[in-house]
Amino acid sequence: MRKYVIMGVQGSGKGTQAKMLAEDLDLVHISVGDIFRWNVQNHTKMGAQVRRIMASGELVGDDLAESVVRDRLTQHDWNYGFIIDGFPRNRRQAEFFLESYDIDGVIVLDLPDSEVRRRVLNRRLCGNCGMDYNLIANSPAVPGQCDMCGGELVTREDDTEEALAVRLREYHQQTESVLEIFRRKEYVFVVDARPAPEIVQEQIRKCLGLPPYNGQAADKGEGQPAAQQGSEVA
Ligand code: AMP
Repeated sequence: MRKYVIMGVQGSGKGTQAKMLAEDLDLVHISVGDIFRWNVQNHTKMGAQVRRIMASGELVGDDLAESVVRDRLTQHDWNYGFIIDGFPRNRRQAEFFLESYDIDGVIVLDLPDSEVRRRVLNRRLCGNCGMDYNLIANSPAVPGQCDMCGGELVTREDDTEEALAVRLREYHQQTESVLEIFRRKEYVFVVDARPAPEIVQEQIRKCLGLPPYNGQAADKGEGQPAAQQGSEVA
């Protein structure tokens, strides 16, 4: 059983890396942001609660974020373990998390702010299935159209200059305190997120003492369709 946390600012590729690791090791990939986005897209009560907060780049309240994580993990469908991305994001969430779970490794994807801006402002999302694209690294075959389902590509509501500035500030302010808590157990690995996804994945594996990467080339974009992300939490 393996339990990992992956951290990094938006655009650092944490969704892509988490997915590659999860597929190969049969881990459950839990993206807290995807769970919230699923709720927004499907107009649930929770979606209505978080939509404006997310669009502004702010963090959703800790109580709600913690209950989403607790509910998702109590489904106990993670026989081989899990990799969680987007949580914990501050000191309180880190303490909550470590009270309940022993973690085998924390991966921090490191990316300069200038590169974050370039990636995030070129990110597009399928309005139908939720697949992520990036117009620099992996644009769709037909401009504006999802390769998977033909849906229309849209910009994430929080991928604007203004919201990104808020998120970057929040990330830099909070991350150090989360790392300080994790580092007490000495299993934090900082990985350079600038290279191609397969190279980043190799680095992650080396850090975690795992065998080399065997899977297919990285999938499009950051994540997987939000509807596959344990959406039962609605
Ligand atoms: P992400 O996809 O991880 O970038 O998350 C998108 C948005 O979801 C964030 O900007 C927050 O508004 C919200 N969110 C995701 N994870 C958390 C969390 N752990 N705590 C609070 N808000 C979160």
